[in-house]
Amino acid sequence: MPDKKKRKLVLHTREELEDHLRTLANTPYTGERFPGACCYSPVRESLYKFVCPHCGMETDLLYPSEYVFDETQEVVKKLQKAGYDAYLYCTEFCPRCRSVSENTKREAEMQFVIRFSDSENYHVARSNILQDYLCVLEFLLGNEVMSGSFGETVPLNERVDVLVKMLGLTNVEAQQKIRNR
Ligand SMILES: [Zn+2]
Repeated sequence: MPDKKKRKLVLHTREELEDHLRTLANTPYTGERFPGACCYSPVRESLYKFVCPHCGMETDLLYPSEYVFDETQEVVKKLQKAGYDAYLYCTEFCPRCRSVSENTKREAEMQFVIRFSDSENYHVARSNILQDYLCVLEFLLGNEVMSGSFGETVPLNERVDVLVKMLGLTNVEAQQKIRNR
């Protein structure tokens, strides 16, 4: 018998999530929409010391901002807390860790990895966009809307492409095309 207490079980299987995303993609959002704030104070950009979480080396970085790094890490921690087998890797921003990787000409990006059962390989997605991670979080927590960059309501069915990219879900868009014909 598998030991179910060994680690928190993943909340949903890949099939369940694909089903859910397909339904979401094909259901017009009819709930309320908060338009968001029209004014906001821009975050002042400045260099900061990025400390590589893997080897500890310090590097001066401007982009993504320290805020985006921290917030993205928080989002992934929330996913782990909810029971998802997900991780965030930031090795590409570290000159020491990056020198051992193959493709050094590409822009450095955070790598998000996730899988929905112990028997499947991890899906790897690359993104420095905090909104991509927030979208994943809301979807995996079973919500149908997320808060946009300005606090506006964004129905997740307008972010199906992001969810497909970040989670490696398939059989979603095909269904959408059939429906729209
Ligand atoms: Zn490093």
